[in-house]
Formats: sequence, C-alpha cells, structure tokens
Amino acid sequence: DRRVDGIKASIRVVPDFPKKGIMFQDITTLLLEPKTFKNTVDLFVERYLGRDITVVAGIEARGFIFGPPIALAIGAKFVPLRKPQKLPGEVISEKYVLEYGTDCLEMHVGAVQPGDRALVVDDLVATGGTLCAAMNLLERAGAEVVECACVIELPKLKGSRKRCCLLIPFKWTRP
Ligand code: 5GP
Repeated sequence: DRRVDGIKASIRVVPDFPKKGIMFQDITTLLLEPKTFKNTVDLFVERYLGRDITVVAGIEARGFIFGPPIALAIGAKFVPLRKPQKLPGEVISEKYVLEYGTDCLEMHVGAVQPGDRALVVDDLVATGGTLCAAMNLLERAGAEVVECACVIELPKLKGSRKRCCLLIPFKWTRP
C-alpha cells in the first residue's frame, strides 16, 4: 500500500531520546500531516470495520491519539488504559516488566463487559510487554481480544532498534 510508505517517511527518528542509545520513533511529525494521519487511521479502519469490535482500548499516551478516531469510525466504545493513579473510579491493574523496573496499566471496572470484542491500540510495540498487560486487563474483564494494532513495530533485537519497520495492522501473539 502506497499509504504505508508515506506514513513511514513521516515518522521522525530522534537519537538518544529519552536516554543515550535509544533511537526514539517520534509519531508527532506524522500528526503534522493531516493526510498522513488520516491514512494511518483509514488503514486500521479498513481492517477492522465490520468485524464486530465493540471496544477500542487505547494505551496511554499515544494510544489515545490513534485509538479514538478508529473507535468512532468503526462504531466502538473507547476505553483508556492508563498509568497508575490517573483514573478516578475503581480500577483493575496489571503490572508488567520493563527493561529497568516495572510499570503498570489500569482500567476502570465496568468499562469493559464480558462478551466485548476488543481491539488494543498503541503507537509502537517493542518487547510487547505493554500490549501483553493491556490484553490481560481486557481478558480479566471478560473481553475477547480480537487483535492489537500498532503503527510501528520495532524488531525485538536491541541492536536493530534503528530499523523502524512499519507494520500497519498486525496480529500480535503473546510470547
Ligand atoms: P514495549 O512494552 O513493547 O517494550 O514498549 C512499547 C511501549 O513503549 C509503547 O507504549 C510505546 O509508546 C513506548 N515506546 C517505546 N519506545 C518507543 C519509541 O521509540 N517511540 C515511541 N513513540 N514509543 C515508544
């Protein structure tokens, strides 16, 4: 798809951010091009429309950029999966392991019901730890996770982090 090339070209790579050795894939430059932003959303919508997805779960923070327009277009509710202590209501939490230390995602109790069919959205997958935590939250609430959608996939090997490969909608399976 020609649109994918444009999306790839619009993502800025920032060396040594947020710390030395990391080639940060910056999607804010994609958002500056309305046509490219729309193409990104459209590619996901074309894949997920008509698949009875009832909930789009966006991961803080960049899943909050791509998730809502996809949810609106496919007629699904949007549920934010947030970092700890941001949601005001009762939550369920899921810890996950990072390169250094741990992190956690939270979801409001009652936002997702048994029988919901979920799509998880984020900007980027590296190790998959974040997506895994998101899927666990949704499944604990009784939802079926249909797929995870990310704009960018970083190859797992650290040495090849530079090689940003864009795998628009992709099927992600648990390690
Ligand atoms: P994972 O859990 O798969 O190792 O990391 C994915 C999470 O880290 C995503 O929520 C993603 O937003 C964030 N992340 C890690 N590296 C980058 C990067 O280079 N660029 C962006 N935009 N996000 C990143």
